[in-house]
Amino acid sequence: MPELPEVEALAHHLREHAVGRTVGRVDLAALTALKSFDPPVTALVGRPVTGAGRCGKHLDLDCDGVHLVVHLMRAGWLRWSDSLSATPPKPGKGPLAIPPGAPGFDLTEAGTQKRLSVWVVHDPAEVPGIATLGPDALDISLPDFTALLAGRAERLKTVLVDQQVLAGVGNAYSDEVLHTARLSPFATAARLTDPQVRRLHTALVEVLRSAVDRSVGQDAARLKGEKRAGLRVHARTGMPCPVCGDTVREVSYASRSFQYCATCQTGGKPLADRRLSRLLR
Ligand SMILES: [Zn+2]
Repeated sequence: MPELPEVEALAHHLREHAVGRTVGRVDLAALTALKSFDPPVTALVGRPVTGAGRCGKHLDLDCDGVHLVVHLMRAGWLRWSDSLSATPPKPGKGPLAIPPGAPGFDLTEAGTQKRLSVWVVHDPAEVPGIATLGPDALDISLPDFTALLAGRAERLKTVLVDQQVLAGVGNAYSDEVLHTARLSPFATAARLTDPQVRRLHTALVEVLRSAVDRSVGQDAARLKGEKRAGLRVHARTGMPCPVCGDTVREVSYASRSFQYCATCQTGGKPLADRRLSRLLR
């Protein structure tokens, strides 16, 4: 699932390549992807692209006051092309394409679950998921971050991925941040010591900044989909931890899982895995 670094890299690409151009055409191939009805998608046509940015994990293309907001959800991607096909996309192929004749982009989604969402709005805050976003993870200050954790009785893993608490971090980068900070995913947020909070804040900013740089460097918008490199524990179950060599472990829920290193993060103690303990009972 694209998170802050990937979406930031896509926004960066749009700032460099789309801003200054005029929207020539918009094709909507999957009607269900569009979650707003006023203004219509056609309101974008003929407008100059004046900005591109990111709100949490949402991508925001500003077309002179009419915003195209996209949430890529689990398997969506934005693919830029310097010369898009002149024929509109076939229904079911991709949710949306904005080809002004020559350059433009497609929004595509892999898999059978179609969840990618698109809004056309006058103000990004009209999008329900944006109105409730917490502060952005890329530039939250240490005092703000400290205050944010202080009132939280939940586990760190839960707090870091809650978009209403902190915007932009998902399952993958929360694993990486916790590993870099050498903290247990199950630690209670409010009970961290001051040095632990400082370590977590430093890890958060460093992990996200370097992931943004990598994603921008590989020109994310020209790739077919999300491609991550440099992960230390996420999606590496059974492989050695690059820091200490211990085997990366996993905790599984119904439809998702996360990874961690016991030696680096939990004092060597494996965390309870509900799926595993059920099998053993
Ligand atoms: Zn380790």
